[in-house]
Amino acid sequence: MASPPIIAGNWKMNLLLESSTKLISDLKKGGISNSRARVVIIPPATLLSSIAYQIKDTGVFLGAQNCHEELAGAFTGEVSADMLASAGCNYVILGHSERRMLFGETNDRIKAKMSSAIKCGLTPIVCVGESLQQRESGEAMDAVRKQLEECLVDEVNKNNCIIAYEPIWAVGTGQTAEPDDIEEIHRHIRNALKAKNPNSDGIPILYGGSVKPENASKILVLPEVGGALVGGASLNPKDFLAIINAASGKSEKKI
Ligand code: PEP
Repeated sequence: MASPPIIAGNWKMNLLLESSTKLISDLKKGGISNSRARVVIIPPATLLSSIAYQIKDTGVFLGAQNCHEELAGAFTGEVSADMLASAGCNYVILGHSERRMLFGETNDRIKAKMSSAIKCGLTPIVCVGESLQQRESGEAMDAVRKQLEECLVDEVNKNNCIIAYEPIWAVGTGQTAEPDDIEEIHRHIRNALKAKNPNSDGIPILYGGSVKPENASKILVLPEVGGALVGGASLNPKDFLAIINAASGKSEKKI
């Protein structure tokens, strides 16, 4: 049986206790539990425990936006994979382009974080993607291959990893890659994963970068696209539900 599409909502550094409770309540009213898609909510660390409580028994999964590679110690301000697992997380985003660009995260560190996440029972959602300059100079494929080679652990497989292809120029900009380009680079990622580990068949490859209700269907229908990592639109219950419904092939329910 084909695995269900994955729709992950990255809230980034947004929402407080009250606003997040309202968002989850709206998503529940809109039928988030009835989706064929595997839905993952990825709030900031301060909200993890509260959201874990609110989504228990809904079939929705919880993820975090980052972790430290060590499990404990003198790392003021950091959160370990172990802590995320104990807060109820199943997933953790690693190597998001905002972390790479704004916090200097390197491929080596992302790989160490991936090891730590897997040891703690989390599934890393490893982000890769090229800059606009790399795309325009024809280096997109090489850039993404290098990220995969350097970020992923050797034993990467469908039970311990999800890839999110997020072209940097499409994240938070309102621009999306063309379906043909998405399909081409997802096939390239599939081949790079096979080169890394011949037993890597079936690793879901998500697309991320300004996914909205208006473009979700035409992206999610592509054969190599296993779902979407959604930023801005995941903060709006109507939009997020529409994207989930597009992944499940359903029409919207009124909220
Ligand atoms: C993201 O944050 O991973 C993302 C894809 O953001 P947006 O959907 O807003 O482009």
